[in-house]
Amino acid sequence: MQQLEMVLHAGTLIAVNALISLLSSFVFLLAYWIRPRFVPPYSLLAWCIAYLAFAAGFGVLMLPAFAISLPRLGLFGNLLIDLGAALNFAAVHLYLKRPRIELWILVPALLLAMIEVAYVLSHFENMRVMVALGCAVRGILTVGAALALWQCLDDSRRPVARLAGAIHAIWALVLLVRMLWWVFNPAADGDWDPTTSFGLTARLVLTCAITPCFLWMLTRQLDAELLRYASRDPLTGLVNRRVIWEQGLARTAQATRQRRAVAALMIDVDHFKKVNDGWGHAAGDAVLRAVAHALSETVSPGDVVGRVGGEEFLVLPAHPGTAAALAERLRAAVADLQIPVGDGEVLQCTISLGHAEAPNGNGTWQRLVNEADHALYAAKQGGRNRVVSVMMPALQAADADSAVALA
Ligand code: GH3
Ligand code: MG
Ligand code: MG
Repeated sequence: MQQLEMVLHAGTLIAVNALISLLSSFVFLLAYWIRPRFVPPYSLLAWCIAYLAFAAGFGVLMLPAFAISLPRLGLFGNLLIDLGAALNFAAVHLYLKRPRIELWILVPALLLAMIEVAYVLSHFENMRVMVALGCAVRGILTVGAALALWQCLDDSRRPVARLAGAIHAIWALVLLVRMLWWVFNPAADGDWDPTTSFGLTARLVLTCAITPCFLWMLTRQLDAELLRYASRDPLTGLVNRRVIWEQGLARTAQATRQRRAVAALMIDVDHFKKVNDGWGHAAGDAVLRAVAHALSETVSPGDVVGRVGGEEFLVLPAHPGTAAALAERLRAAVADLQIPVGDGEVLQCTISLGHAEAPNGNGTWQRLVNEADHALYAAKQGGRNRVVSVMMPALQAADADSAVALA
């Protein structure tokens, strides 16, 4: 019991809080050093300084234990911790790229901190006033950080951001309880204050949980970015050949098993070499981006569009029955494009499409792609800017069974 009292002694808790905050600050400094390009650097720096301010604040509160007693030490230590809370809020704001307007939360926090300073300087270090105002300042900033984390827009980081947001909300609740206890206990003074140990223990546990959460968010962001690099074509932003091939294999296998139709559209830009030769490679890239944009704007949710080669695209329609109509819509959408290529020049281009459909699955994805390729070749031969459709024969039950095995 005596040992527990020693552990929960305010002085011990302040010292451990100072050390853990210092460690967190160091961790954020390291993260700043080795950060990937897409992480806003000032957010990590703000976290680093925030935890340094927490550590300094707790350090100042420890000074009386070393027989160093300067005037207004308590106020100074608390203000450093308030500064840490403000910088933590700013770091969350910068990291999640929240709208600037949300920074208004800093204004009431600053006003309350100024009232606290004015009161202490004109009166004395009244514990009740300092706890009430200090908890209010930190509470406002912590609620602000919790809300920003909860509203994280990025899918990859949202679950961890919400966990960190919930932890901030718990911290805000602890601050509220501490503030209310002081307000409703007129007999309370610095020597009889169970809320200090409670607050310091909660802060310790939360720092130990929040810092790993932020690092976890960073690693999830890194994972998502690597996945994007591995699956997206950098020029057009469409999925690359690997992704659409995997999807095609999976969809064909499923369609064959369920004896359902499956379709593919192979697309090639007409006379694209002439664009490169006549207007330059940059103009060619602009045309590819515009075509990719038109294709992805025209397809329906569930359809997959990928870039599979230089000026070749592949579409996997979610509804094979309407794939021919979709192909015609895609052709018309590209033919309508007016593509600016610099110097006020505007280009137009067309595409040819090969549409292949297997009414009850064709067993292999490669066969479907080959048929779409043949249809595309026929569209080129037929004069370009057109759709040629190929309906593959329906498989008989016995063939379909062996096709399922092949898929
Ligand atoms: P067709 O109508 O028969 O398809 O004629 P085409 O000129 O479009 O066909 P071809 O295959 O001869 O030309 C494709 C050109 O695409 C050749 C290559 O230099 C160019 N290309 C491939 N990748 C890119 C790219 O990323 N950017 C640009 N600007 N050009 C590319
Ligand atoms: Mg080609
Ligand atoms: Mg071409």
